[in-house]
Amino acid sequence: MTTVSHIPELNRLLSSNAQWAADVSKYEPEFFTECAKGQAPKVLWIGCADSRVPESVIMACKPGEIFVHRNIANQFHLHDDSAQSVLTYAVEHLGVEHVVVVGHTQCGGVAGAYDAANKPSYGKPSKADSALARWLGPLVALAGSSEFHASCEGMEHGDTLNSLSEVNIRVQVENICNSDVMRNAWARATNGEAKKVYVHGWIYELQSGRLRDLGVSQGPEGFVGPKFVGGVSVNGFANANGNANGNVENGFTE
Ligand SMILES: [Zn+2]
Repeated sequence: MTTVSHIPELNRLLSSNAQWAADVSKYEPEFFTECAKGQAPKVLWIGCADSRVPESVIMACKPGEIFVHRNIANQFHLHDDSAQSVLTYAVEHLGVEHVVVVGHTQCGGVAGAYDAANKPSYGKPSKADSALARWLGPLVALAGSSEFHASCEGMEHGDTLNSLSEVNIRVQVENICNSDVMRNAWARATNGEAKKVYVHGWIYELQSGRLRDLGVSQGPEGFVGPKFVGGVSVNGFANANGNANGNVENGFTE
């Protein structure tokens, strides 16, 4: 009997977990013993905290396959010690070969940033800044930029928000590529001292359950395009603005 047995929604989760563990043990008796020995994931997923985008579920992965960092609107801020620590540990200690930034359509964080950027009070000092408002600050600035407004002229509101999701992913890919961790990893790979690591940008479409590659992958060679991404299958979709090389060149960097 657990301490939360009188709370149905939590009790259901614990029961489901017990059933899952029993099922796994039945079909793969050594699974948990092997898991307990250590992890060697090939992929770091940097995604949104949204409950509708559970990375291992949507990619049918087992525990141990994906190293994960999730936050509101899949941000990678260069001053964020949490995200930096995850990237450092994943690249330098676990030896992941791919870092994937994954945003999604209908993102509440993206919509909130867009709304904040289009309020009459935008840009004015506010004493009421919450942690969430501070967190979304760079994304609000992106949504309020003249470059973004120009790129969305004539778009429906929903398309504008999805475009902001895509531009946001591209900016976070750039932020990761500009981090000391990736610069050092790429320098070591170029010198033959370490294996290659690639950074990618994907978007998850809630309406279809499908992941789509934005074609913005970068590695030690620089931009590597949608065709070659070191073993990860990619469908070669063009990115939102039809920018063939996928680089951030419209001033969308922080
Ligand atoms: Zn989201």
